[in-house]
Order: sequence, then C-alpha cells, then structure tokens
Amino acid sequence: MSGLLAELRQAVGEAHVLTHEDPATDLSAWENDWRRRAQGRALAVVRPGSTPEVAAVVRACAAAGASIVPQGGNTGLVVGSVPDASGTQVLLSLGRMQAVRALDKANLTVTVEAGCILQNLQQAADQAGLLFPLSLAAEGSCTIGGNLATNAGGTQVLRYGNARELCLGLEVVTAQGEVWHGLTGLRKDNTGYDLRDLFIGSEGTLGIITAATLKLYPQPAAQLTAWAAVPSLEAAVRLLGLAQQQLGAGLTGFEVMGQFALGLVARHFPAQRVPLWQSSPFCVLLENSDTESETHARALFERLLETALEQELVSDAVVAENLAQAGQLWHIRESIPMAQAEEGLNIKHDISIPVSRIPAFCEEADALLTQAIPGVRLVNFGHLGDGNLHYNVQAPLGANAQDFLQTEEARVNALVFGAVARYHGSISAEHGVGSLKAATLPHYKDPVAIGLMRAIKQALDPNNLMNPGRVLLP
Ligand code: FAD
Repeated sequence: MSGLLAELRQAVGEAHVLTHEDPATDLSAWENDWRRRAQGRALAVVRPGSTPEVAAVVRACAAAGASIVPQGGNTGLVVGSVPDASGTQVLLSLGRMQAVRALDKANLTVTVEAGCILQNLQQAADQAGLLFPLSLAAEGSCTIGGNLATNAGGTQVLRYGNARELCLGLEVVTAQGEVWHGLTGLRKDNTGYDLRDLFIGSEGTLGIITAATLKLYPQPAAQLTAWAAVPSLEAAVRLLGLAQQQLGAGLTGFEVMGQFALGLVARHFPAQRVPLWQSSPFCVLLENSDTESETHARALFERLLETALEQELVSDAVVAENLAQAGQLWHIRESIPMAQAEEGLNIKHDISIPVSRIPAFCEEADALLTQAIPGVRLVNFGHLGDGNLHYNVQAPLGANAQDFLQTEEARVNALVFGAVARYHGSISAEHGVGSLKAATLPHYKDPVAIGLMRAIKQALDPNNLMNPGRVLLP
C-alpha cells in the first residue's frame, strides 16, 4: 500500500494525505460517525482540492484495488461516511472543495462544489436576493455533496421537494476515474436515461459527486410560524389538509411533535420555553411563506387557525410575533434529537407512510411496542407534511439504555418495519441506507428493484470499490 500512498500524495499534495503513520495525526473526526455507532480506521484521509485531483485519487485507488469512502460533513445518520475497521480503505473528504462556481440570477440556478456547506450556500443565495430552500438541523456542517448523495429531505420538502428535486445537473467522477460533465442548468432535457437521478441518493456507491447545479427560488415576502396544540394525530392530518387548502403553496413547513418528545426538550433544555405541550398529546409547527406581505400572511394564518379551532382540530395556538420568536419555535423542534441523546441511547427510525394512514400506523405500532416491552417510551416527531416520522424508541425509565439497545434493537426494528410494510411505507424516508440498514433492506424492498439496483452497481462499479458495504451487501 506504500505505492498507493505515494501516488495519492502525488495526486493531491503531501499535506492533504493524512495517515496513522504519524502518531500525532488525529483522524478520529473522519473515522467516527456522528451517532458514534461506528469507529473505523482509514488507510489514509485524502483531501483533494479539485475535480481533476478527485479523478486522480480514484484512478490510483482503482489501480491498487483500494476501496473509497466519500465523506462530506460526516453528519449522516446511517453509518455511510466512515471507513470500516480494516485500515485498508481510503477516506476521500470533499471538505476542501467549497467554491460557489457560478450563480445565474435570471436562470435561477447556482453551481457549487460538493464540499460547500449547506448553510454557506443558503447565505450565498440570500446575498443574491434569492432562496436555496433545502434546510435541516445539520445545515451548519453538512455538505451539498452529502445532501445529494443521501437525497436529503429536511423541513421544506412539502413545498420545494427533496434534494433530488432541487438539482438540475451534476459533475461526477466515475468509479473508473473519468469525469462526467453534467452540470446543466436546463429544466427540460429528455435525452435518454437520467444519470443525475442515478447518482442522487446513491450514497457514494456509484461515483463521487464533485459539483452540482441547483435550483434557486425567489425569496418569500414574509415567513410566519405558528405552533398549535392538536388533540390527536387524526386532527393533525386534517389540519394539514386544511392548511394545504387555505395556504396553497404558501405552506412550507408542517412538523408534528409528540408530547413525550417535547417533554424531553422541556426537561433537558429548560431555558427553552416549550409552549402548550403539557395540555396536548401532539403539537404542530406550521410555516407560511407568503409572496405578498406579512399582513397578508398573518391574515391567512389567523383565518386558518380560527377555522381549525371551530372544527376542533386545534385546542390552542400561538403565532410567532417576529423572526426571533419563529426561530425559537423552530429551535425547539430541532432540539428534539439532542434532548433524546441527553435522555440516553435510543433506537431510531426514519420512516415514511402515506399521510392519510399515519394515525392508524402509529396506533398499531404504539400498541405492538408497549405490549412487547412494558414501559417503553416512544419519541414520535417528524415532517408530517411529507408523511415522514422519526419514530424513535427509548428504553423504559430506569433501564440501562446500552443493554436495551443491544437486547431489543432487532426485535423493535422487526415490529416497527413490519408495521411500516403493512402500511406500504418506507424504512428509510430521508436518511438513506448506509451500512446500518443494508442488511435489512432486502427484506422490505421489492426483489425486482433490488435486482435492478445490483445490475446498476455491477455496471458502474464492477470491482465494488465505491463505498462497499453500503446500500447493497454483496
Ligand atoms: P456525509 O455524512 O459525509 O455522507 C453521507 C453519505 O453520502 C455517505 O454515504 C457518503 O459516503 C456519501 N457522500 C458524501 N459526500 C459525497 C459525495 N460528494 N459524493 C458521493 N457520495 C458522497 N437528513 C435529512 O434528510 N433531513 C433532516 O432533517 C436531517 N436532519 C439532521 C439533523 C441532524 C442534527 C443530523 C446530525 C443529521 C441530519 N440529517 C438529516 C442527516 C444528514 O445531515 C444528511 O444525511 C446530510 O445530507 C448528510 O450530508 P453530509 O455532507 O454530512 O454527508
């Protein structure tokens, strides 16, 4: 492998190949995943600064038969971006490739390199008076390459779609080290198979995304946030329908949060004032982005909430007075995962179910779990507008969380995923498959689909060197 290391140094420069050869070099930030579920060991962390350098790295690895793990911000939640423990994999970090290459205001597009942090792109769009709508709690660290490789969702999918819908073109280094120059800003291009959509969501298993051309949008004139207590999940789903009817495309966010989830935020982050949670089994966060004015947005929200109160879909509600208050409400929602982590290790699920069937699904899954594990605590929250729940399972009070995870994870997953399958849902709505769900996937995905996926993988990466062990197991 010393020959490979020499070639990698030649490709990207000595300073950008980090190895364990020097005991003073700490690679743990690249080798441990965000949830601390996996600790790997890389042959080297390689940090190319340009697309030709990425291509040279891939060619060197292909010639040596070394596999590559691409990494952006390393915020992925399914153990996809860290090397295995073998010490033979090359960790390819896109972190130095952060440039905004071009912004076309008239075409409403921006072209950025894969290592660009999502928040930096949002700010670049904002400075141009435009909006890049992808938004998620990890936006200060995650990268565009990672967002596209996982087809990230987040809080604005209801109006703007997943990362896939926001992408028009890609630049990709293939498993053979060639560069596919697909950075088109076209909204219409029916010239054959959609290679862009093949690489989006492929989690680094087909090639390395080095740059992307993405859609921008006009900024809304006003954005208002409301927080409503709802008596049941059925009421939340009916409120969603009402909001879609009354606000139309203005409805840009619709999040649901269960009482126990909010209670965790109240307990672990007491400085955050969580409204209305004690009186209701669920609260909902709504966002209205208005093209006219704040007055217009407020009037629409007031009409919506009045109707909802009349129809008993809402028992109480507050509308944020200003952006600071809106930020506080969103911060509560975004603090749920951290509050859960404070409470202890837990079993996470990122599932989607047709919106109409979510209440019945939760009733069934809640009953199955509480029957199987008396005292189990359910942390239920998510992007209800997209049918996406983070349906997480916390150990009974007083139980050892580590033991709970070890002894119960397989049983809990089987119960939850079984219910997901009965309701025609997906076992991974937005986080992807990674290595965490790679063994589970074939049990819940159509066998013909798995066969086609294998054929694609074989055609594009016949030597299985691109992020092996992720998405599809051999
Ligand atoms: P990484 O974690 O570095 O990589 C993720 C996967 O993509 C890996 O398989 C990796 O190999 C591959 N990859 C990375 N870069 C490239 C590239 N350039 N080319 C090819 N493959 C590549 N996700 C959501 O969808 N919605 C949410 O609301 C959401 N909220 C989150 C909140 C928190 C607090 C955290 C920690 C995570 C959240 N996530 C969410 C998950 C995560 O942030 C997203 O999956 C994000 O898109 C990953 O980006 P990243 O740059 O960190 O990618």
